[in-house]
Amino acid sequence: MKFNAKPVITQAVSLPFKSSVKLALKREDMLHEFVSGNKYRKLKYNLIKAKAQGAKTLLTFGGAYSNHIAAVAMAGHIYGFKTVGVIRGEELHDKVEKNTTLRFAKTNGMQFKFVSRTDYRNKTSDAFLSALEKTYDAFYLIPEGGTNALAVKGCEEILTDADSNYDFVCCAVGTGGTISGLINGALPKQQILGFPALKGSFLHEDISKFAKQSNWQLVEDYHFGGYAKLNAELIHFINTFKSQHGISLDPVYTGKMMFGIYDLIQKGYFPNGAKILAVHTGGLQGIAGMNSVLKNKNLPLIQV
Ligand SMILES: *Cc1c(COP(=O)(O)O)cnc(C)c1O
Repeated sequence: MKFNAKPVITQAVSLPFKSSVKLALKREDMLHEFVSGNKYRKLKYNLIKAKAQGAKTLLTFGGAYSNHIAAVAMAGHIYGFKTVGVIRGEELHDKVEKNTTLRFAKTNGMQFKFVSRTDYRNKTSDAFLSALEKTYDAFYLIPEGGTNALAVKGCEEILTDADSNYDFVCCAVGTGGTISGLINGALPKQQILGFPALKGSFLHEDISKFAKQSNWQLVEDYHFGGYAKLNAELIHFINTFKSQHGISLDPVYTGKMMFGIYDLIQKGYFPNGAKILAVHTGGLQGIAGMNSVLKNKNLPLIQV
């Protein structure tokens, strides 16, 4: 199986305020033309295993604007798997054409099963899974958000020798797979800071299952109220960042992380002269969906 990953560049980010710290951004969003950022890393070894097992179908779970759903659909299309997406929210079944993420996934061949929020909550139960097994051909199961041991292995490839000079490595956290890979790939002297995109104390435990070092910490002050929650201040930050650096950030993950990093720098969290590497994990496909929500609420839109 051939993976056509593009080389990833690291860019210096000039700060709009006075500080002795140095910030750089690792552009994992540029990794692949269609399967962006950490979702590519997380799928890589899972797809290799699925192929080796002779699986013809990938089945996974996600919400209406999920980057993971978009990535699995596209990866299936490129690498020759059928794909099934179990989608949270029965009401979405007749809204596929209006939803940019679901429309994209469908165009790439994904078949959907829309389920209620209750069923979705129980999606890892034996009863739910055995019902799926009766409905669909044998499938390779990829968990929600794509996190499992093979996903962590893929994310261990994000940091390279060229990154050994950084004192801090920062990333956004959803299910914790990406940060686990960064922790395992980092040098013991480096500090890994995760910025959860959601509220929830379960993340510490989830990350501990995979992390082989203890040089990490979660900064839990920048979730903006929870998963996919945002306000005008965050939108303004993302749009200003875009106009100053020409780099798009997504409102669910990387925008919150970068907002948090700027805020921590200004509050003096980092030691003088610290070198910080932020990982741009991608997720830009989700902006269009968020903008349709913002438009309905009469809030300012995110510039792309
Ligand atoms: C999914 C996603 C994350 C979260 O990754 P986890 O491995 O689930 O913690 C971060 N950033 C972006 C852009 C994502 O799409």
